[in-house]
Amino acid sequence: MLADVSHIVATTLNTNALLQDVAESIRHHFGYRTVGLFTLDNAGQTLALRGYSSTSSGPPKLPTPEVCRQPIGQDAFINPAVHCGTQRRLCDATSEDSYLSANQSAAHTEVCVPILDIGRLIGVIEVEGDPQVDFDPGALSLLETIADIVSIGLRSVRLHEKSQRRSQELALLSRVSGGFEAGLNLDTLIDSTLDGLHELVNADRTYFITVDPDNRTWQRTHIHVAPGYELGSEEAGTFDDMPVELERLMTGKPFAVFDTTFDLRIDKTREMYQSHGTQSVLLVPVQFGKRLHGAIGCDYCREKHAWSPEEIRLLEGTAHQLELALDNLHLFEEVRLRADELATTLARLEELDRLKDEFIQNVSHELRSPLAIIQGYVEMLESGGLGELRPEQQKPVSIIARRVRMLGDLVKDVTLILEAEVSPPEPESVALGELIHTAVEDFQLAVQQAELTLRVEITPELPPVSISYTYMRRVLDNLLGNAIKFTPTGGTITVQAKEKGNQIVLKVSDTGRGIPSDQLERIFERFYQVDGSIWRRYGGMGLGLALVKEIVEAYGGQVTVESRLGLGSTFSILLPIATDTSLGDEPH
Ligand code: ADP
Repeated sequence: MLADVSHIVATTLNTNALLQDVAESIRHHFGYRTVGLFTLDNAGQTLALRGYSSTSSGPPKLPTPEVCRQPIGQDAFINPAVHCGTQRRLCDATSEDSYLSANQSAAHTEVCVPILDIGRLIGVIEVEGDPQVDFDPGALSLLETIADIVSIGLRSVRLHEKSQRRSQELALLSRVSGGFEAGLNLDTLIDSTLDGLHELVNADRTYFITVDPDNRTWQRTHIHVAPGYELGSEEAGTFDDMPVELERLMTGKPFAVFDTTFDLRIDKTREMYQSHGTQSVLLVPVQFGKRLHGAIGCDYCREKHAWSPEEIRLLEGTAHQLELALDNLHLFEEVRLRADELATTLARLEELDRLKDEFIQNVSHELRSPLAIIQGYVEMLESGGLGELRPEQQKPVSIIARRVRMLGDLVKDVTLILEAEVSPPEPESVALGELIHTAVEDFQLAVQQAELTLRVEITPELPPVSISYTYMRRVLDNLLGNAIKFTPTGGTITVQAKEKGNQIVLKVSDTGRGIPSDQLERIFERFYQVDGSIWRRYGGMGLGLALVKEIVEAYGGQVTVESRLGLGSTFSILLPIATDTSLGDEPH
């Protein structure tokens, strides 16, 4: 029999199955009339019949603790065993007054053997025999040994259940944090959290309330209810009736009530709990920042429930995960708002940019024709085509001519840069050497006037580059113009062009004032000038280098600059060699 019970204990990891099998084994081996195995549940408040075996057709074969549960004290015979713990009773039940008064028709012998776990009562084996059955010391000692084995079995079941519960708790916590990461919104997250808690805590109601501590109001936003424990439509209330609960939650601590009928702290709330049928309640705060945001609540209605430290810890852990989710959600919301703001600003900037381009385009268009006419007449004037100029007229006219040319270049730059952005002309084969010579010739006068030296070093038989001729001319004009503008009297400007792999390198160097290193990147931005204040010494619009860079890159080239303050600058341009060697139309 011991071997049989030991086997059951070693192989069963479920309390009910274990106690049922042991009850049957005892009855089978001893031949008693009935054998019942009880456990002490609910913090020692009730006895639950979990294993039952009988020769007669009596109570259910496989009792469930819910069905066969009785508060301590109801069974007069078991009582002393329960209350005294270690006491074992052997008696002829028919001679027990208290027993007889409780069981009218008793005509049998009965023995109760406590199941102890390190001296603590955790259950009882109750055996009934026919009147003639004699519980001799041998049988009693065997029952005691069985009680000890059952105790060991219950402990390992408990350990197993505990570790299973732990893993379920962990699964719930990771579901909460994982749920948020997976992008669930807060409502869905709270719902799924309550779902998991409901299962683990086995409460009749699990819910979430939001709390407004300033106005002392609360609102139940989510609830999971076991059938039969639904609440009325009351979904909100004030804390005037629940001052203790609010005070407790505000300190960040859980509020646990075992018995709503007697707990002195809830005098004001008692009526509400009673009307809801709530026997035990647990509330755990959820904070946002350092402020109370809400609470997770569990109600037990079918019976009183002693909240275990594990359950409280689980609710606190879950609340903490929700707090993190709330924090993250808030951050997300902030980031989203910021992104929306930025998107709006960007759209506005793009619109402004478009308007500016449009404006510039219109202005340059309106300037182009009158300028061309002025330029034509001025050149005629200058060349004497409209009659010989008097000596005192020559200088002013040539100043007018130069300024008109500058204005014309400026308008050309503006037009080109806008055009280059939208649809640059098809590339052609451009003989760079010749283009450089033409440009240098045009700048000769300016170079002389600025008292500079201009050197040109071009490798003979330089292959043509692939670019638009007009655009390339503007690139050179701008680089040369800048070099002249920013180089003081006596300086030297060098233009070099040579082959490098399948590219041509064009360099325009000067011995001018140089560019501060922290501005080297920025000078290629549209309208950027190193000295862009209204007191700047040099003219220009800050468009030239932007045009250079945009044009060169549009044709697959690259622009770089090296510069040392006070010593000079070198602009280098890499351009692809034209594969089609037929030269484009020239000159433009
Ligand atoms: P702009 O010459 O019309 O001002 P650019 O786009 O051609 O506009 O040049 C931008 C700025 O870069 C200039 O204002 C000037 O400060 C600086 N820069 C350009 N080329 C040189 C150079 N060769 N030496 C010194 N500074 C230069």
